[in-house]
Amino acid sequence: MPADLRLLDDDERSLVGLVREFCDREARPQSHDFESKEQDPAPLYRQLAELGITGIPFPEEHGGAGQSYSTYLLVIEELAHAYLSLAIGLSVHTLCAFAVNQFGTDAQKKEVLARLTTGEWFGAYSLSEPGSGSDAAALSTKAARSNGGYSLNGGKVFCTRGAEADVVLMMARTGPEGARGITAFLLEKATPGFNGAKKEDKMGWRSSPTWSLTLDDVEVPDSRRLGDEGIGFKIALASLDSGRLGIAACGIGLAQAALDATLAFTTDREQFGRPVAANEGVQFMLADMATGIEAGRRLYRHAARLRDAGEDYSLQAAQAKLFCTDVAMKVTTDAVQLHGGYGYITEYPVERFMREAKGLQIVEGTNQIQRYVIGRRLTGA
Ligand SMILES: Cc1cc2nc3c(=O)[nH]c(=O)nc-3n(C[C@H](O)[C@H](O)[C@H](O)COP(=O)(O)OP(=O)(O)OC[C@H]3O[C@@H](n4cnc5c(N)ncnc54)[C@H](O)[C@@H]3O)c2cc1C
Repeated sequence: MPADLRLLDDDERSLVGLVREFCDREARPQSHDFESKEQDPAPLYRQLAELGITGIPFPEEHGGAGQSYSTYLLVIEELAHAYLSLAIGLSVHTLCAFAVNQFGTDAQKKEVLARLTTGEWFGAYSLSEPGSGSDAAALSTKAARSNGGYSLNGGKVFCTRGAEADVVLMMARTGPEGARGITAFLLEKATPGFNGAKKEDKMGWRSSPTWSLTLDDVEVPDSRRLGDEGIGFKIALASLDSGRLGIAACGIGLAQAALDATLAFTTDREQFGRPVAANEGVQFMLADMATGIEAGRRLYRHAARLRDAGEDYSLQAAQAKLFCTDVAMKVTTDAVQLHGGYGYITEYPVERFMREAKGLQIVEGTNQIQRYVIGRRLTGA
């Protein structure tokens, strides 16, 4: 039972139809192979660019499709339903493009954003460091003034597609300790001294490469500083507000895939002379799974509508990320349970879905940190 398309407008419905066809023809059939080989699906990213879905929510004058963020999230949900790692890659790419669109100069929009929206370039986002994860403002990678630009030194961790991306939104310290000492840079792939040092071996998202990056005397010109010195943390957090909605949509797409697989399995599998799904105890579990998914879908789409209307949506983005990824964890766990022993073997997709859901509860602010964001917004503390 895929996402309900009835209330979409014609443009949205045809875009979702296009993506659904791509998912059925290319993404889903190839996902298992890329995941088992732990290989970045570069050819599929190129196809996303050819389909024109690498710049959906960005202005047409900069190569984007000029559509709403709500429309973009429909696409993310569809992709995640077929192949989570691919959806994650597009979500991170969009997070990087968002920052350039929101905070970039006209020249940066022409040189960087236009390449990102058209898919000539793919983007990544690098905030986390060995000593600063949830406490991201404690980062220590340094950007010192040098040769009319900056020289960056330090190390980053957990950068999704950090070595595959053509440009990385990189946060580094130009000033004193704390959030106000951080500046954002647009670091291009081939820049000398900038390297992918280690690719992590992960529980899930195995075809979404996660990198430790090293920066040794990396020269970055002024023209690649994004925003003023000292506003890098503001850029990082604004990008995360936006990106969290992508992660929420990923959670719902993944959970829907788990529910669909479980409905098919429990209808087909017979025990005690009838389909497993004929038991009330099983139907109650399926009912909770479907209801959680639908509630999460409404939550992230509501936050996206606020964003599209130019309203503050930070609280709702954190709620959507928290709720939708917790739903994904619960639904995928129940999907494994309802497959019995078959849920535990790799021949069936649900064990992979369960491993993938765990990652969604951790990235772009753990779900504990989302509760801080929500609590602070509610109380003003
Ligand atoms: C697959 C993957 C991809 C990622 N991709 C990226 C990326 O592209 N770019 C990027 O910058 N980062 C990325 N990350 C990093 C991710 O955002 C961090 O892992 C996450 O923010 C948590 O930071 P940490 O791992 O250092 O955990 P820590 O901050 O050390 O937290 C450890 C535990 O303590 C809890 N905790 C910490 N502080 C508090 C507190 N005050 N109150 C209650 N609980 C607390 C956390 O919730 C967590 O459960 C990725 C991570 C993974 C696993």
